Amino acid sequence: MTADPRTPEPHAVVPLDPSLAPPGTRAFRDAGGIPADRWHADQNGETLVPTHCCFCGVQCGMYLRVDRGGKVFGVEPRNHDINRMRLCPKGINAYQQVNHPDRLTAPLMRRSRDEEFQEVSWEEALDFTVSEIERIQARYGKDAFGLFGGASLFSEKTYLVGKFARVALKTRHVDYNGRLCMVSAAAANKLAFNIDRAGNPFSDMLLTDCLLIAGSNVGECFPVLTQYVWGARDRGAKLIVIDPRETAIARTADIHVALKPGTDAAFFNSLLCVIIEEGLTNEDYLAAHATGWDEVRAKALEYPPSRAADICGVPAEQIAQVARTFARAPRAMAWHARGIEHQSQGVENCLTVINLCTATGHIGRPGAGYGTLTGQGNGQGGREHGQKSDLLPGGRSINNEEHRRQICEIWGIDESELPQAGTSMMEMIHQMRSGEIRGLMGVCNNPIISLPNYPVVKEGYDANEFHVQLDFFLSESAANAHVVLPVTSWAEDEGVMANAEARVVKHNKAQDPPPGVRTDTWVMCELARRLGVGDKFAFNGSRDVFDELRTASAGTVIDYYGITYERLEETGGISWPCPSTDHPGTPRLFEDGRTYHPDGKIHMQVVEWHPPMDPYSDEFPMSLTTGRTVAHFLSGNQTRRLGALVEQTPRPWAEIHPSHGFRNGEPVRVVTRRGSASYPALVTEAIRPDTVFIPYHWPFPTSANVLTIDALDPRSKIPEYKVCACRIEHAARIDEVPAPPVAPGHVAYPETQVSRTDPLPPTSPQGRGTSERS
Ligand code: SF4
Repeated sequence: MTADPRTPEPHAVVPLDPSLAPPGTRAFRDAGGIPADRWHADQNGETLVPTHCCFCGVQCGMYLRVDRGGKVFGVEPRNHDINRMRLCPKGINAYQQVNHPDRLTAPLMRRSRDEEFQEVSWEEALDFTVSEIERIQARYGKDAFGLFGGASLFSEKTYLVGKFARVALKTRHVDYNGRLCMVSAAAANKLAFNIDRAGNPFSDMLLTDCLLIAGSNVGECFPVLTQYVWGARDRGAKLIVIDPRETAIARTADIHVALKPGTDAAFFNSLLCVIIEEGLTNEDYLAAHATGWDEVRAKALEYPPSRAADICGVPAEQIAQVARTFARAPRAMAWHARGIEHQSQGVENCLTVINLCTATGHIGRPGAGYGTLTGQGNGQGGREHGQKSDLLPGGRSINNEEHRRQICEIWGIDESELPQAGTSMMEMIHQMRSGEIRGLMGVCNNPIISLPNYPVVKEGYDANEFHVQLDFFLSESAANAHVVLPVTSWAEDEGVMANAEARVVKHNKAQDPPPGVRTDTWVMCELARRLGVGDKFAFNGSRDVFDELRTASAGTVIDYYGITYERLEETGGISWPCPSTDHPGTPRLFEDGRTYHPDGKIHMQVVEWHPPMDPYSDEFPMSLTTGRTVAHFLSGNQTRRLGALVEQTPRPWAEIHPSHGFRNGEPVRVVTRRGSASYPALVTEAIRPDTVFIPYHWPFPTSANVLTIDALDPRSKIPEYKVCACRIEHAARIDEVPAPPVAPGHVAYPETQVSRTDPLPPTSPQGRGTSERS
């Protein structure tokens, strides 16, 4: 949608529930929902297109500035309910992707990896792609061709990825990079509540008396969400942060628990132990709303603070203090993210947090509840509609006969044609290494950087006989492919995403794609046509796909039927389930005391803590943990090309405690059982002495995933990124950070093509403690 510069955005004034509205929103809405200057920000004919940030799961509203020629050239904040004019460094710089000189504008092709890429016509690239798909599947079977989707795609495209895999490729092997992000929380939510989403909106944080944040560096990973956390604190709520590092949010907490990585389940079981022993459980709530409490209770009592303190490396008294603070609060909330989810017991860690909220009755009320913070912009929506190996649209199970029948009816295929469940992303890498999978299509992801245990991942990719990748920049994974198809950026198409609240928001098209670029939707539909199933993919764009998605989700828990593009424009977002077009959506779950299990109860689950999969030893005595930094996003393919972000954070570092005797900026080699890499040291008292932190946005040889272990949670199949055994040692030099790949013939973008091996300390401050030494 392109807005008329002189016409206010068609923004109906929707009555707000004051309990859901962040401060300021009401006044804004009362004033008509229009900025004071009525957007006349520029007299030169620019247009402001309302949309949302492409990056994290907060999904801040923004305006893209479009010039007379129809090109995106800037950004303005937008007074959307979610972010109220705020944007973080990534959001402010995101628009620079759109007309970036590194954009891919023609298909690239080579018949072997020994050759250089050549620019070719779409016809030639698609012909070769289809012939390779048909060759591989004819020789090795349908399941020999795999598909990786992404959770930064609009939900319409994620729906298409799942349908394309099952109906066009007819393969069981489809999975997506949300497998590396949210699936532990998803599995835990399903087990406990039979619904996979956060229970409360962000705005409930402003109503709570106690906010517990576990494993989330909110200040850097969800910067704009900080307003809610600090808003709660400013109202007098107690803030508890569980994190091995004293991050920016931990620094301002009432209680910061710097527990040893990989010990969360023991910690949360121990909180429950204290709460039981001190009579702080809500027995009435448990009796009415939960099952499994007797078993959970018995297990929790095996974790007294004296035992948990030894496991977690924190004082027993601090455990008791957290337990009392959370349980005694009239309204308490717990939010968590990858810190507790990226573990081989990630699902169980999440279940212990749910057990804590349930045992204290902090569920389903304003200011009381439970939520998970999604990393990618569509981390929530990306797993709802069928691109996960075991799911069909509407969160249906591919193993459920009734669910299969429903989807086959909508897709117009025979039930016998619908493949069975496939495997997870990392398991598919191993299947590539063994030859079980011989060809791959990737849609806007960069697993060569983002999957753990890089040597194994690279071997898997290299073993593919054919690999086609869709993207708008030449990622490291695309640079390893045979065919690269240039597709639209988020500003060149329309579609929806669901943020961490499960609020569905609408992204609008701000400019036409560059010549030579197609939408991912067009590419999948055209490939389907060439594979002989074009009638099943007769979509003219996102709106058509969304209408089918709405129908496919109708009647499921993840019901989008009542959500339309028009309603999203009017309201600023609707939380599912939303079963009819007059339904207001569901910002807060469980208000009637019922979950989505048939019995309406919360199914509490017994959890036993177990040590991380990579054992400590004399050779590897420390914990390596990895994560994000404020200037970059995931594999860095989108942010390592933006000058201001590169300048702010040009390279990774190793964060270590002063007790190890390194000077700031001195080369430190981090060694694990998978490999080693050298970084400048960031010496800080804000990290545990037994822990090393490395941000993971850069490629080999400085990729943190050269070091990480590919152990998986047995249920969610999420990798254990947050803990592996390591040692540190002095190094002669810092490993160089390679510049991002560009297409042949493109001029390297100077701001990103500099060598970054100088031994300067990393930039600061970025969520580090106040007690750094230099
Ligand atoms: Fe974008 Fe997230 Fe930053 Fe908001 S907080 S501007 S959604 S990256």
